[in-house]
Amino acid sequence: MPSHVLENFLKENLADLKNKGLYNEIDTLESANGPVIKINGRELINLSSNNYLGLATDDRMIDACVDATKKYGVGAGAVRTINGTLAVHIELEEKLAEFKHTEAAIAYQSGFNCNMAAISAVMDKNDAILSDELNHASIIDGCRLSKAKIIRVNHSDMDDLRAKAKEAKESGLYNKIMVITDGVFSMDGDVAKLPEIVEIAEEFDLMTYVDDAHGSGVLGKGAGTVKHFGLSDRVDFQIGTLSKAIGVVGGYVAGRKDLIDWLKVQSRPFLFSTSITPGSAAACIEAIDILSNSMELQDKLWDNVHNLKDGLKKIGFDIGNSETPITPVIIGDEKKTQEFSKRLNEEGVYAKSIVFPTVPRGTGRVRNMPSAAHTKEMLDQALSVYEKVGKELGILN
Ligand code: PMP
Repeated sequence: MPSHVLENFLKENLADLKNKGLYNEIDTLESANGPVIKINGRELINLSSNNYLGLATDDRMIDACVDATKKYGVGAGAVRTINGTLAVHIELEEKLAEFKHTEAAIAYQSGFNCNMAAISAVMDKNDAILSDELNHASIIDGCRLSKAKIIRVNHSDMDDLRAKAKEAKESGLYNKIMVITDGVFSMDGDVAKLPEIVEIAEEFDLMTYVDDAHGSGVLGKGAGTVKHFGLSDRVDFQIGTLSKAIGVVGGYVAGRKDLIDWLKVQSRPFLFSTSITPGSAAACIEAIDILSNSMELQDKLWDNVHNLKDGLKKIGFDIGNSETPITPVIIGDEKKTQEFSKRLNEEGVYAKSIVFPTVPRGTGRVRNMPSAAHTKEMLDQALSVYEKVGKELGILN
């Protein structure tokens, strides 16, 4: 007998979300997630993917995935600690450590899982975490899971971080204190002030934790934000995802060897959930080889980023202060932002609106992520659509 309690709960709450305009209808792609996608039979220039380097559809990656799948099968067969650790997983972890300039690395099933795993394996109720207010949802959930005291820090406000670090340290209430930040913030594309964060951490004896989901493959010649600032030996935890620039799926923590040894015996997503498929692991290895041996894709990405940003600015849009490929076009009003994204879509450009509560009220934006796989023609076409829709909706003069 189906539960009436559940039925009533869902009926009320789904209706409530829909009334508030917070129910997100999800589009289905009928094509690969490349620079051009197909939705409902229509081709659209795709500016909404995190496939920054175009590797998700790269033939070299597909071949690596197919070869490993033929050798190892489609699944790892068990949790890593039972008998699901395949040679290809170990090879991936060795490559990741080398790529990140750390002693060791551990792979998880997703970037989200990394944050659930690593924070709670090290922090507990006697500890405190200083967490930037714009940190990713998975960091917030990882912090909550750990039961440590969470101290929110104003976004990239180093005075606030210093004051709160000092207060936490001098209170004597906590065994361990950690500062956690995104390397690149996903809604505005700004980069964390890592040199200052590391200095404050060293002054007050804090552990440092950087989630570089959007910086890896993009900054620091591909190695990420920590390498970009030359801080590889001064950050304790480097978290990355294998699903964005790397183009596949999974996540990793890179750091000192004894930290990784600890995570292998203490972090629950590693102990109780099956690892990424061998084909995925092999494709990730291929991606790291591609990135380590050539700057071609990164250079192409940055050319496209500059072209799109310059074009949008020239047309007259407010694109905020992004320092990375994440390019918000800030519209402000929530309804107008949603209308803008809808009209872009009708004109052949797929760029999603992001509004409150994901970003503060009145800062609605359409978020664009150019990739190495876009051609100049595609971006020029997207810019002309932007100009047309911007004028039509009265956003541009
Ligand atoms: N951390 C950050 C900062 C992210 O932006 C994301 C992806 N949105 C994740 C973690 C989660 O990564 P994944 O998609 O691999 O789970």
